[in-house]
Amino acid sequence: MALAEQLVQGVDLWINTPRRPWEACGTSGMKVLVNGGLNLSELDGWWAEAYRAEVGWAIGDGQEHGDDPNWDAQEAAETYRLLEEEIIPCFYERDGRGIPTAWIARKRTSMAELTPQFSTNRMLREYVDRLYLKAAQNYHKRSADGANESVRLCHWRELLETYWQKLYFGRLDVQREGDKYIMTVKVYLDKLDPKAVQVQLFAEPQGDGESEIHVMEVAEATGTENGILYRASIPDLRPAEHYTPRIIPYFDGAAVPLEARQILWYES
Ligand SMILES: *Cc1c(COP(=O)(O)O)cnc(C)c1O
Repeated sequence: MALAEQLVQGVDLWINTPRRPWEACGTSGMKVLVNGGLNLSELDGWWAEAYRAEVGWAIGDGQEHGDDPNWDAQEAAETYRLLEEEIIPCFYERDGRGIPTAWIARKRTSMAELTPQFSTNRMLREYVDRLYLKAAQNYHKRSADGANESVRLCHWRELLETYWQKLYFGRLDVQREGDKYIMTVKVYLDKLDPKAVQVQLFAEPQGDGESEIHVMEVAEATGTENGILYRASIPDLRPAEHYTPRIIPYFDGAAVPLEARQILWYES
């Protein structure tokens, strides 16, 4: 770390040339930012997110090329071309007072735009907001009143263990109503309380989006074997076959699947 400290403070240009996708993250490039250095790096790890022409230089096309020696040669040639034709001239181009104005401008943009995002402050704040505070609140909630909540949570997990194997689906029914699908499916929960689970419709992400999840509501409880009719009304923006019902554990405040890993998918 002592050596890294010297290196990172003393360098003007940080050159990082892993083969994509082997750069895990690229922390060293982020440390360069606060020390006023600029990055010339493979478009991988953090640099694939952070790079813009205004803040540094990039190697590669952001795609994977395995260990193809032709691609290595091409990237090497591109690295030397960047150094010889753009980066080194930019560094040595000085005004009357000896200031490399274009270099400084890039450095300022790099520091101003990238340090707030790629910093330990930002990372730690995100951990605290999204995870640690929630975990601390959960701890207080779960340990209050003689750990009443924890006892209920353990009981819930035991019941899941005991009865999960017995859960099964009836047939999925899809009706169209205007611009909506009405999807209904019978779910047999054996002795599990419907409150201990959630029935969802799941669809894979489209493009770079998030996966789509709709919670199905209890439409009616029918007599035998605890069969319950679940229903969801969803916009018909994608083919109905994209949606698959599934059952997952549910307990207010529990992290699923971290604390209960069961899942049952509908099979047609
Ligand atoms: C920054 C740093 C690293 C990480 O370097 P990367 O190039 O991001 O892998 C490793 N060791 C030390 C001592 C460092 O300071």
